[in-house]
Amino acid sequence: MKKGTIDIKTENIFPIIKKFLYSDHEIFLRELISNAVDATQKLKTLASLGKFKDELGDLTIRVEVDKKNKTIKVTDRGIGMTADEVEKYINQIAFSSAEEFVKKFKTKSEAERNAIIGHFGLGFYSSFMVAEKVEIKTKTYKKGGKTKAVRWECDGSPEYLLEEIEKEDRGTEVVLHIDNDNTGFLEDYRISELLNKYCKFLPIPIQFGTETVEEPVEGEKDKDGKPRTKSVTKPKIINNTNPLWKKKPSEATDEEYKSFYRELYPLTFEEPLFHIHLNVDYPFNLTGILYFPKVKKDYELQKNKIQLYSNQVFVTDSVEGIVPEFLTLLHGVIDSPDIPLNVSRSYLQSDQSVKKISSYITRKVADKLAEIFKNDRENFEKKWDDIKVFIEYGMISEPKFYEKAKKFALLKNTEEKFFTFEEYKKHIEKTQTDKDKKLIYLYATNADEQHSYIETAKERGYDVLLMDGVLDNHFIQNLEQKFENSAFARVDSNTIDKLIQKDEEVPSRLDDKEKDKVKAAFERNIDKQKFNVKFENLSESDLPVMIVQNEFMRRMKDMEAVGGSGMMGLGGLPESYELVVNTNHPLIGKMLKEKDEKVQDKLVSQLYDLARLSTSLLKGKEMSDFVKRSVDLIG
Ligand code: ADP
Repeated sequence: MKKGTIDIKTENIFPIIKKFLYSDHEIFLRELISNAVDATQKLKTLASLGKFKDELGDLTIRVEVDKKNKTIKVTDRGIGMTADEVEKYINQIAFSSAEEFVKKFKTKSEAERNAIIGHFGLGFYSSFMVAEKVEIKTKTYKKGGKTKAVRWECDGSPEYLLEEIEKEDRGTEVVLHIDNDNTGFLEDYRISELLNKYCKFLPIPIQFGTETVEEPVEGEKDKDGKPRTKSVTKPKIINNTNPLWKKKPSEATDEEYKSFYRELYPLTFEEPLFHIHLNVDYPFNLTGILYFPKVKKDYELQKNKIQLYSNQVFVTDSVEGIVPEFLTLLHGVIDSPDIPLNVSRSYLQSDQSVKKISSYITRKVADKLAEIFKNDRENFEKKWDDIKVFIEYGMISEPKFYEKAKKFALLKNTEEKFFTFEEYKKHIEKTQTDKDKKLIYLYATNADEQHSYIETAKERGYDVLLMDGVLDNHFIQNLEQKFENSAFARVDSNTIDKLIQKDEEVPSRLDDKEKDKVKAAFERNIDKQKFNVKFENLSESDLPVMIVQNEFMRRMKDMEAVGGSGMMGLGGLPESYELVVNTNHPLIGKMLKEKDEKVQDKLVSQLYDLARLSTSLLKGKEMSDFVKRSVDLIG
């Protein structure tokens, strides 16, 4: 037996580990099991190279909890360690990385510390976050020389103990004697939860607890002739050692992709729209499957569901800042040995290989969408409403994605027809170019509320886009910047002839004096705070009075609504509309000739209400008054 002191360069690190890493104690299990997996895979590699000639046997890693004795035990049948190796790897190397961690930790500010605590594993030494004593019993796969099994023990002080023991089986057994502050980890459900979080897709079978399964009894049938079954209790394997993303894309079926999605998100009932299987080994190694979910209105809830793995070990499911913002709407798994396991998130965000991975994924996603568009446009159009938010988000925020997506992004008009940007430009070029050679894209944000304006535009032979998505306001501004010599105008932002101005001007039937009279009559009857009277020489067949809202003002108001009220000063922007009076409409002429001011007021109110009615601005008492007045007028 040998007693030794771990070579301490700074000071006792154990209390520091315990104290500061409070929030993330649970990672100890991931670290222990990762080590067991590594040791097992090393042995498999040796066997495949012919350097290990014995039977590999059952390589299952076992996790056992003994609540009474307050221990958690992780056992593997991997390469094991000799006494020298324990000295080297456990006492020296593992320790020095723990020490380095503590050094780093102590020089950081409070905020930086919190970031490190998040995702800095300590490897084997993280055991001391939860254990008052740790034992390792290990026997190397090697033969001859100094290869006897050994037991190492350390109680969290720098002193350790190392002795030879008898151990039958090859491999390593780590026993944690859980301290009183961490007895929560002795609950089976807690361990199950952690295994499920971190180890669900590890490549070596991991056993914890038992499960009862129905097994057929050989040679026996029930009365319906079906094989008779009986319940058997078996060790429970908690992981899927061969997750779908490791398969070659050509060998996986659609059904497998769907069922893997359910495996990843057992609580989600909705099926994904489609998937992308990532599989590269140059210039870096990366596998994974990304799913497009149906993006809902409250898309914030669906964000950040991608799980990052490093060689099948779960790293994090908080990919914000690691992949471009718009990709956080995707679901699925990304696995790369280049994703560092034991680092803080701020480190991950600045890591060069993580950056490369992120731009690679952006490209792949764009390529996949382009492929679906090319091969099955009908299907792409069908899914458009569900993926549109995602694509628009990407186009607004990532110039590189925009460049690819501009070939397959779609615009939908109010007749539910889809166009690419190119196609749409061709579609409206002849009709919607104004006298200054500017191409005007007309759009509606609500097909019902803006119905009368849409109809008016269509009567003129114009086309109206439906832009009713959550991001469309931003998207429109983005497109305006990118499209040359073009502008977007909502159908109700002016009279249609002003929106797309052509050369010919219609003369007015009213002179200035008459206009003043008409204006006065209207101003007696309308809400002057909200409505501003303006004249336009439209045709006789156009409506006598219309309400429009200036495009610029409306966008400012929309922005204000998004940015919270009061952005433009106390109380925010006032609601303001223009009440356009058609100088050429016979009813305006009739109203002007009317001598009785009361009759005039009635007529003006009726016209004002009709205009408000077609923009959904007439509500409550004003609506009731309108109905009463209409009945009177008919009678
Ligand atoms: P890391 O795994 O990052 O190298 P650890 O502190 O977790 O750091 O482990 C230190 C070393 O101890 C490992 O590299 C390995 O050589 C050895 N080791 C730990 N656990 C086992 C095990 N279960 N079987 C064999 N060797 C192990």
